Amino acid sequence: MKPTIAMTIGGSDPSAGAGIQADLKAFTALDVHGVSILTCITVQNTQTVKKIIPLPPGDIKQQIDHIVEDIPIHFVKTGLLYQPEIARIIAAEAKKHKWTLVVDPVLVATSGDTLSTTNLTEEIKNTLLPVSTIITPNIPEAEALTNSSINSTDDMKNAAKKIHTMGAKYVIIKGGHQKEKQANDLYYDGEQFIFRSLPRIPQKKAHGSGCTFSALLTGLLSKEYDVEFSFILAKAMVWNMINTGYHLGKGSDVLQITSKIANNAPYSLPTSDHVDVWMTLSRFLQDILDMLPLSFIPEVGMNIGYALQHAKSKEDICALNGRIIRSTTKAQRCGTLQFGSSKHIASIILAVMKTNPDIRCAMNIKYSPKNLSLCEQTSYRISSFDRTYEPKDVSSTMEWGTKTAIEQSETCPDIIYDKGGIGKEPMIRILGKNPEDIYTKLICILKQH
Ligand code: PLP
Repeated sequence: MKPTIAMTIGGSDPSAGAGIQADLKAFTALDVHGVSILTCITVQNTQTVKKIIPLPPGDIKQQIDHIVEDIPIHFVKTGLLYQPEIARIIAAEAKKHKWTLVVDPVLVATSGDTLSTTNLTEEIKNTLLPVSTIITPNIPEAEALTNSSINSTDDMKNAAKKIHTMGAKYVIIKGGHQKEKQANDLYYDGEQFIFRSLPRIPQKKAHGSGCTFSALLTGLLSKEYDVEFSFILAKAMVWNMINTGYHLGKGSDVLQITSKIANNAPYSLPTSDHVDVWMTLSRFLQDILDMLPLSFIPEVGMNIGYALQHAKSKEDICALNGRIIRSTTKAQRCGTLQFGSSKHIASIILAVMKTNPDIRCAMNIKYSPKNLSLCEQTSYRISSFDRTYEPKDVSSTMEWGTKTAIEQSETCPDIIYDKGGIGKEPMIRILGKNPEDIYTKLICILKQH
């Protein structure tokens, strides 16, 4: 098998949250073989960068020359360069070898520690930008590159235009440093602007998110995805990795790199439809957690699934690979959203879709006489099945039960319940076209409370 290869040129972060360690992990998450050229060693933990020890520029050039003599390198990202001489060397190599070059213009760390010597910004502008394919500054870096202050989306657009004229073919300005509820990223290819906004994740200071984003971008380009789609997918992936990130030391969280949007089989990577379905479900989960009463959460936990259009198998349905469970005071999410992760919820959705292809979403809530009565007080159509009538040769109870409940109803029900069986918890399932539809139904049921 011929491997897909990408190279990172950057600094070492011993905590492995950022730097070349994060880049290599991001490449691995995409099944891309990562090659690394070290520019600096940092003395760093999750709280501070204490010291930066740059390697001699000649030794950095030697590392590159020796690698490219041996390994076919076409896709390269740069991270921590620290000194202008290093930017100059990389610019010359990129030109010589015609690399597709992603430049993450690392200047200052999330911790506030500086990661560059004077004149690095000028060198990036003068030599690296003209040979770069994509540059991925955050707001302070875009401000430094354009010598302007950015306070609005119009300012972001103007900065992107300015950076584009400096030579980068594509400019992606990351809005993570803004104060708004949404983290708004801007893509500019010289003609069109695309804003992609995702909810800011409260209380997460994600060390290494910039490195990981640009590494994912580079890895996706090496897998022959186009720049626009790679931008959208890399952002979604990083958002998921931040959302499921964890506390490693006493400082910033680090990203959960292994957290994936889709199971591997049968896809090597998700399509834009996967990303949209996954994203809609991610937003929904964020919105409902705080409003879910504990009395709605079943003993076995709650799950929600959302199918791709024309879904045919479990792999086409995105659901939590864990559950929403009860903690002492609130609903808590365990696990991450993945395609192919829940046979149970997939069987329900696939059974509904056979006769009602527009109904692609299902969520289970706890059965109790009280919860059923709340459902009955709404105008939603309710149907049920009885497990005692289940034929012996049925391979999926959920498929059979859902089909039976639909057959008993004139039109597709909004709610299907069953009263359980020996060792089987009774359950209520809310069906809908999409997560928004389920949200509306859930609110209506809750209003009867
Ligand atoms: N350390 C190294 C080696 C880096 O390359 C970077 C960023 O590129 C950082 C630290 C800072 O990462 P963050 O700003 O995400 O904390």
